Amino acid sequence: MRYVSTRGHAAQPTFSDILLGGLAPDGGLYLPAEYPQVSGAELDLWRGLSYADLALEILKKFATDIPAIDLKALTDKTYRAEVYRNTRAGESAERITPLHVIEQDGDKTLLLQALSNGPTLAFKDMAMQMLGNLFEYTLDKQHAELNIFGATSGDTGSAAEYAMRGKRGIRVFMLSPHLKMSAFQTAQMFSLQDENIFNIAIKGVFDDCQDMVKAVSNDLDFKSRYKIGTVNSINWARVVAQVVYYFRGYLDATTSNDQKVSFTVPSGNFGNICAGHIARMMGLPIDQLIAATNENNVLDEFFRTGIYRVRKSAETYHTTSPSMDISKASNFERFVFDLLDRDAPRVKALFAKVETDGGFDLSGAPGSDGDEFRKIAQFGFASGCSRHEDRLATIRDLHARYGLTIDTHTADGIKVAREYAKPGVPMIVLETALPAKFNETIREALGADAVRPAGFDGIENLPQRFDIMDADVSQVKAFIVAQTGL
Ligand SMILES: *Cc1c(COP(=O)(O)O)cnc(C)c1O
Repeated sequence: MRYVSTRGHAAQPTFSDILLGGLAPDGGLYLPAEYPQVSGAELDLWRGLSYADLALEILKKFATDIPAIDLKALTDKTYRAEVYRNTRAGESAERITPLHVIEQDGDKTLLLQALSNGPTLAFKDMAMQMLGNLFEYTLDKQHAELNIFGATSGDTGSAAEYAMRGKRGIRVFMLSPHLKMSAFQTAQMFSLQDENIFNIAIKGVFDDCQDMVKAVSNDLDFKSRYKIGTVNSINWARVVAQVVYYFRGYLDATTSNDQKVSFTVPSGNFGNICAGHIARMMGLPIDQLIAATNENNVLDEFFRTGIYRVRKSAETYHTTSPSMDISKASNFERFVFDLLDRDAPRVKALFAKVETDGGFDLSGAPGSDGDEFRKIAQFGFASGCSRHEDRLATIRDLHARYGLTIDTHTADGIKVAREYAKPGVPMIVLETALPAKFNETIREALGADAVRPAGFDGIENLPQRFDIMDADVSQVKAFIVAQTGL
């Protein structure tokens, strides 16, 4: 299997070549040259597999340059009940992503797929845990080291640290805005005592942290000398690992391959739902893929109008589903590449226009950049938007009717899923975090605290290990140099 850049760069690297990197050299994103297809016979065989073995079958199709026996060791190590143990009452940790029926209204069924039972209580663990093991395996083979350098406003940083802690050959340097994360998020990250994890609290906001990561990424000498890498959401291996749970959800919700299901996905950077698109392109019988956004509705606007208009910082709202507060969707280019029949020069021109003009228009209106909006439904995509009041109402409704407490992002998903539920097509909502992670809003909605999974009581009182620095890139670079001893 070879990979191509959405902007047409000529080199066609392998899975291992792109594993440790981010963007293609031309600024594009990687996708497989062709999507591997899954037959009905294979789907039948996969129905009875464990999650780890299903992950193995899917990874084998994409990571063709890693021996299957090694992949099996990696998927077995990643997808274990002990790792995904933060289950609700009644859930089996062995299932890894347990599926529940939430409500049945005549022929309409709404289901919830639990993706947040991993160490940091958000779906990002599903892929990041796999990435940690893949990185360790690859670096070991190459006798190489990697210094992961990133910025986080909460979820990504903690998922990365819990995936990389104690791993040979890897250090993590994670910037976060000083005193801006929730007490729970801060405690989760800063209480890690592993020697390869470095938390750096920056006196500034998230954008200052992000700018410093960009500055280091653009310093090619520093980057290669100190072996700097990233784990951001455009990483291809993360997307592949996410493809697995769409298959699992489908297989758990159906008994035969004649049936279709739809998925509603709380969306920000379009990484999660992009994996659903890939599963569908591989032949998984998905009817609709519905992107649920919060007040930051860049994606909802596109799927309703064909106009992609990124937002400025001042137009990006701080909401109560903060992990979806994005101004542009960094994985969206992958879908646009397929929507445009993989016309790389056009993709390149459109995303150049995003930089110069703040967006592009595929509505087909006179003077627009194309008319591919008419093909959106062929790809199964639709969307909806949910706001703070909707989140509160949905959290209250599910709690009152079913005694179920859901987090704010998942609430955005449920609200939008209900608008699209169709008779005869099970609608699966992906649960992207557990409510304990966003307890402030749970308390606002329900007047009571969310249940914390065992082992998280009192984490705010554990000793914390972190350094505080100014928003000054030279200070951060000096720190990395000192810690790596290179
Ligand atoms: C990251 C995140 C999302 C958004 O996922 P994307 O892949 O960026 O679309 C939604 N909910 C939660 C809780 C998250 O952490």
